Amino acid sequence: MPLVVQKFGGSSVADATSIKRVAKRIVETKEAGNDVVVVVSAMGDTTDELLDLAASVTAKPSERELDILLTAGERISMAILAMAITELGVTARSYTGQQAGVLTDAAHGKASIVGVVPERIARTIQEGGVAIVAGFQGVSENQDVTTLGRGGSDTTAVALAAALDADVCEIYTDVDGLFTADPRIVPTARQITSITSEETLEMAAHGAKILHLRAVEYARRYGVPIHVRSSFSSKVGTWISNDDDSQSEESSMEDPIIAGVAHDRSQGKITVKGVPDVPGAAARLFAVVAGAGANVDMIVQNVSSSATGLTDISFTLPEADGEATLAALRAAAGDLGYADLRYDDQIGKLSLVGAGMRSHPGVSAKLFGALFDAGINIEMISTSEIRISVVTRAEVLDDAVRAVHSAFDLDSSDSEAVVYGGTGR
Ligand code: ASP
Ligand code: MG
Repeated sequence: MPLVVQKFGGSSVADATSIKRVAKRIVETKEAGNDVVVVVSAMGDTTDELLDLAASVTAKPSERELDILLTAGERISMAILAMAITELGVTARSYTGQQAGVLTDAAHGKASIVGVVPERIARTIQEGGVAIVAGFQGVSENQDVTTLGRGGSDTTAVALAAALDADVCEIYTDVDGLFTADPRIVPTARQITSITSEETLEMAAHGAKILHLRAVEYARRYGVPIHVRSSFSSKVGTWISNDDDSQSEESSMEDPIIAGVAHDRSQGKITVKGVPDVPGAAARLFAVVAGAGANVDMIVQNVSSSATGLTDISFTLPEADGEATLAALRAAAGDLGYADLRYDDQIGKLSLVGAGMRSHPGVSAKLFGALFDAGINIEMISTSEIRISVVTRAEVLDDAVRAVHSAFDLDSSDSEAVVYGGTGR
């Protein structure tokens, strides 16, 4: 019997009515002749509310306690969903991450899955029941409850699909699939029918909010086919294929050059001014940055002034890492010998992604041309084989996304994208 893993996000299980609708859908999948394992997120904004609750008693909650608290959100939705399915006459049992055998490292708040031993889940399926698993959580080697980071339920679903050798991992969300841009910014964004995991990885890593980055990495590594679709409609969504299946030379000739435009407002920029332009200076600087735990994305070093022998180095990093990184750089000021430190959180990043870029010259010229025509200044640029990213002022980012989207003929001529819920932020 085919095995389907279905993951429902927070907006799909926001209230009792939604949970009943989801239960019906699960039962339909089961009655169509599939074994079904379900992964759920917390209802609606529960995770945020739990975070607020913790913040109301302490400014610095213990990471261990915070993880136990946050996993409660998914436990509520899993139990209610199991009840709703049982009410429809199908056996359903819910399991915490720990019960489902999701083993992680001990990095509270951002734990990585190190193994999945879903014995209890396999047994439930064998017995003809539906297994509901709490997303976003696992257990560490020393039996502490951990969470996988915001949006981590996607990763739970893919990891379970891999461990159970499922035929497909369906990710249900509040839009019809992946789009060529965020439909909240570009109403004419087109739904993508199929995309490679490599492209999805670049989109997710550069701000596209639809899938947890680690879920895509996991799916790619274990060859799990993902189908992203809406729980509010029965339309076919977006299939994320593994590169080997679809990236043959012939098919890439037919495929669109560009998969989509991602944007990211969550980055900040640090500029270190007056750094001595000598061998080893950048190495020392970025050792300090790495020590602060920051994930640096783009780096630009200005041409140094020959008169002073000094240069400026700018780099982008998640805003969340901004404070700690600035503090580390200040603490190392004597050693690094720079003149000044600036922080700018008003930047936006646009990324154009497409596997076809490899074989098509002129993509960057067209991108820069589109931004020039829209009067948008580019502050930084970085590229990979299949991506070009630019940093702009945050306030013109939406305009930039729209301009680039139409310059590459990605606008849909027919239906407007439907956003069923959520904010996409
Ligand atoms: N409930 C968690 C969050 O809001 C995990 C998830 O939804 O995937 O981030
Ligand atoms: Mg999510």
